[in-house]
Amino acid sequence: MTCTIHLLSDETINQIAAGEVIENPASVIKELIENALDAGAGKITVDIAGGGLKLIRVSDDGVGMGREDAHLSIVRHATSKIRQAHDLFRIATRGFRGEALASIASISKMSLVTAKEGEVGTELEIEKGQVVKEGPAARPRGTTIEVRSLFYNVPARKKFQKSAAAISAEIFRVMTVMSLGHPDVQFELKSNGRTSLKTLAQGLQERAKELLGVEFVAGSHLLQFEEGPLRFSGLIGAPMNTRTNKMGQYLYLNRRAVVSAQISEAVREGYGTRIDDRRHPIFLLNLDVPYDLVDVNVHPQKLHVRLRKEELFRSKVKEAIVGALSKIKVERPVVQFEPIEVHYETPLFREEAPEQDQGLLFEEEESIEVIGQLGKFLFLRKSEELILLNYEAARFRVIFENLVSSEAKVEKQMLLIPFTIDLTSVEAAMVLTHLDAIENLGFEIRSIGKSSFMIEAIPPFVDEGDVKQIIGEMALHLQEFIGKHHYAKERQKKLAQCAARFAKQKHRISNEEAKQLYKRLMACESPLHCPKGNPTMVHLSHDSIEHLFRADQKTAKGAPC
Ligand code: ADP
Ligand code: MG
Repeated sequence: MTCTIHLLSDETINQIAAGEVIENPASVIKELIENALDAGAGKITVDIAGGGLKLIRVSDDGVGMGREDAHLSIVRHATSKIRQAHDLFRIATRGFRGEALASIASISKMSLVTAKEGEVGTELEIEKGQVVKEGPAARPRGTTIEVRSLFYNVPARKKFQKSAAAISAEIFRVMTVMSLGHPDVQFELKSNGRTSLKTLAQGLQERAKELLGVEFVAGSHLLQFEEGPLRFSGLIGAPMNTRTNKMGQYLYLNRRAVVSAQISEAVREGYGTRIDDRRHPIFLLNLDVPYDLVDVNVHPQKLHVRLRKEELFRSKVKEAIVGALSKIKVERPVVQFEPIEVHYETPLFREEAPEQDQGLLFEEEESIEVIGQLGKFLFLRKSEELILLNYEAARFRVIFENLVSSEAKVEKQMLLIPFTIDLTSVEAAMVLTHLDAIENLGFEIRSIGKSSFMIEAIPPFVDEGDVKQIIGEMALHLQEFIGKHHYAKERQKKLAQCAARFAKQKHRISNEEAKQLYKRLMACESPLHCPKGNPTMVHLSHDSIEHLFRADQKTAKGAPC
């Protein structure tokens, strides 16, 4: 009988492992940065070309490797970080599986130059996992790993790579996550020779300002919690500053960037009813805990972890969040809220509609009467019904539908005096990646420096003073599309929502404007709610008003006065 089972070659085994560990250029960068951090680097530079598919080069000033270690480093299951199985429960390093370099080497053309302090360095050229060239190298302490032609021998993987824009966005995300988790290490990302992200070693708050923005830090609460061996620290976003997804959550467990639904949930519980059920808080949280409380060996990319004593963990995280939120904020908030101005207008029966509109009125509009205005609420009468229209919500809906409609012409207003805005590096990367989509809404934006942009045109409904905030919000939402395919429509909606929400608010609305707004609202696909789901209008029938004046409203007994 012939044998049908055979052992796989090392090359095949490594490629299978690479399938799990290395999804895309961003995962290569993550693994190489983790190695540099484990080697104690103070400065890590990442160079990429062709979105990382052509070239990824990660250089560090860590401890470096001797010649033998350099050879062993690319062998599967070779690691300096653990020796035995029980070491898995006291892992202090980011790596431990000993498979990243072997995996990367099996699916690329790789070179490695490394030197220990005061020693002659080593240079290796590796192809399909085998050393094809070796020699001494002169370099200061540290390691440089160059990965060229990623996936050249795995065409199926290469074919499934996302667009260049999506790849760079993912790389940016990895760099941001790593930089926020290690504020004492300097990071630099250069794409095709140009620096697109550079962080300086300045501590948690300064690093967060660089990457998440001054406004976020100013509005957030500092978290410092110590109990027994548990040490938590971080920045907790203001309850009013939330998001529809968890992209604003940066979580580190024993300095390892992880994703944990349980911890996110515990944080959210800490916010209590301060935030809406459908929203997610923004936070940067470092949890330093005894190593044996965490099982990191559950995911090939080491992104997910299993928690022991989960209940205790969750309650402590919740307690820490409650404590942080009860303390004063990091700095005085920069955003100031003005009280809404409330004023009454004289009844508008008296005002006559302009002549030119007479013939254009819808049948429905003819029966609409504008009775008055209280702040942002308009009172309309339609036969026996009173309609309370929320001017802001209605305009939000009308402008939003106009922006997402394929037929409507988007207007732009060229500025006589263009102005500049400065963004964080993350925001800038998002804006550059999605510039076309933003410009389709009526903006004209030109990049004029690392993270600075010249605003040359804006949509007519937007106020110049709001542009920075609008673009900032757009950048925040654009991060949701990192790693996704076919998002053009969804992206247009998100961007339109950000812009329409800032539609200039008028305090006094003429009779005719109120009618026009109602008319345009009723022509919308979803006239009853603003794009965020808030009602645009409330209908009060004669009966329901009468009901309000009954003494016993539950049973509706008793005749009204
Ligand atoms: P792991 O990180 O899980 O140990 P890797 O395949 O990523 O596995 O790396 C294998 C070994 O190579 C590491 O354990 C480490 O000893 C060495 N190494 C890798 N990168 C570096 C680096 N940048 N500086 C020093 N040593 C490194
Ligand atoms: Mg590693």
